[in-house]
Amino acid sequence: MALHLVYHPIYSQLALPPEHRYPINKYRMLYQHLNNELDFQSHPDLQLHQPQPVGVDEIKQLHHPDYIDALFGNTLPAAKMRRIGFPWSPQLIERTLTSSGGTKLTVDLAYQYGIGIHLSGGYHHAHHDFGSGFCLVNDLALAARHAMTLEGIYKVMIIDCDVHHGDGTATLLADDTDIITFSVHCDKNFPARKPDSDIDLALPRGTTTEEYLDAFGGILHLALAQHQPDMVIYDAGVDIHQQDELGYFNVCTDGIYQRDHLVLSQCDQAGIPVAAVVGGGYRSEHQHLVNLHAQLIYSALDVLAKR
Ligand SMILES: [Zn+2]
Repeated sequence: MALHLVYHPIYSQLALPPEHRYPINKYRMLYQHLNNELDFQSHPDLQLHQPQPVGVDEIKQLHHPDYIDALFGNTLPAAKMRRIGFPWSPQLIERTLTSSGGTKLTVDLAYQYGIGIHLSGGYHHAHHDFGSGFCLVNDLALAARHAMTLEGIYKVMIIDCDVHHGDGTATLLADDTDIITFSVHCDKNFPARKPDSDIDLALPRGTTTEEYLDAFGGILHLALAQHQPDMVIYDAGVDIHQQDELGYFNVCTDGIYQRDHLVLSQCDQAGIPVAAVVGGGYRSEHQHLVNLHAQLIYSALDVLAKR
């Protein structure tokens, strides 16, 4: 059974000031690292897919059309662009549309094959009428709504394990009763205001690997049993790592592998397709992030090998 990966070179093609916090190169580096280690051309169990940009009309069904018109036309007030955290450029818009298309394609691949992984995605701070924290369009909410249009998909769960709360996803989907939002995050971290998800697990600063896996593992099991989703969208942010520059948890490298493996294996055993995205991760040395994000792909290969 092949593992299906989604990637586009545009993910790392964004000119940013040299001191900018956003690790723009990590996507290309992750792709190259995986290709070096696994060799996409000859690997029997990997298939690579390149997404198309999502249409503007579809994005306007999720976000306020005035916000999208101003964002795409570069007429957002400066304060609103600062809240997003990127300088405006046509590249930024194309990248956003393509990455949103990538998460949507990952849902289609998960639906078809069981597991799909997007080597981008997880823009969970994008709200209905504003962007925030490097997030312009909420690809998770967009993909969840898309999943609900697929035959036999009646309930979707978004499991967001990025260290930051999934505030945009929670508010955008507050009225979507068949899309369950589940955020596991640090209680004292960005964003300051954390609107209710359907399930929130807020853990304190300094949470260790064992504490994290205990708390998350227990709630994950209950949440899947209670809601029995037909599709899971998983944000595998690695900013829970002990050396992350924007996270405050004390989770080790292997703990992240165990978390990814837990989600993928539990869903696989229950016959629930998983569309995973790499999510956040902030280190000045981008190679460290690559090693952490790559574990998501290794854990997926392990789950598929044990089928
Ligand atoms: Zn994050």
